[in-house]
Amino acid sequence: MPLSRFPAIDECIEAFRRLPGIGPKSAQRIVFHLLSKDPEAARRIASACSALGERVGLCPRCSMLVEGEAGPGAGGADCRACGDRDPSVLCVVEEPADVFAIERAGGFRGRFHVLMGVISPLDGVEPEDLTIGLLLDRVKTERVKEVILALNPNMAGEGTSLYLARVLKPLGVRVTQLAHGLPMGSHLEYADEMTLSRSLEGRREL
Ligand SMILES: [Zn+2]
Repeated sequence: MPLSRFPAIDECIEAFRRLPGIGPKSAQRIVFHLLSKDPEAARRIASACSALGERVGLCPRCSMLVEGEAGPGAGGADCRACGDRDPSVLCVVEEPADVFAIERAGGFRGRFHVLMGVISPLDGVEPEDLTIGLLLDRVKTERVKEVILALNPNMAGEGTSLYLARVLKPLGVRVTQLAHGLPMGSHLEYADEMTLSRSLEGRREL
């Protein structure tokens, strides 16, 4: 076998290389580091990653992450986002990470619904590929009075919000959208047009 062929090492480098923000060189550095300097870290990473697969899943109702000893997705029973929260306000986000961001901001006591992406026909993502059907079911069967669309302020997020507003409003629910304000400390002249026009629209009384 040539000296350059080490299937186990190659497989490990390939696995790391697929992670976001890690290129082939970083992947190789990580693997060589684990091999020669910190074999204990390799065991910790392997066991933490396998626990992810065994214990973390998606809530069948809201698609937020659920973690439980019994295994993922036990009927949503373990889902904290569906738990003891105000059912009348439902906040729609793109990814589970967005739920963490809104929770960190504090002040929101309603429930969440994770779309698992945005509509993007160019990337082959149609409404049916997202959890929009589940969202409509929830609005019909839970006591939802307001749906807050909290998607990212970019073209795909805006398009998806417009689509959702169109399918949600006939269900008799109030549909609102986050006011996309300017970040604190920023300058008007550096703001992109969409942020500026959205923050104008989202203006409130002082
Ligand atoms: Zn849930």
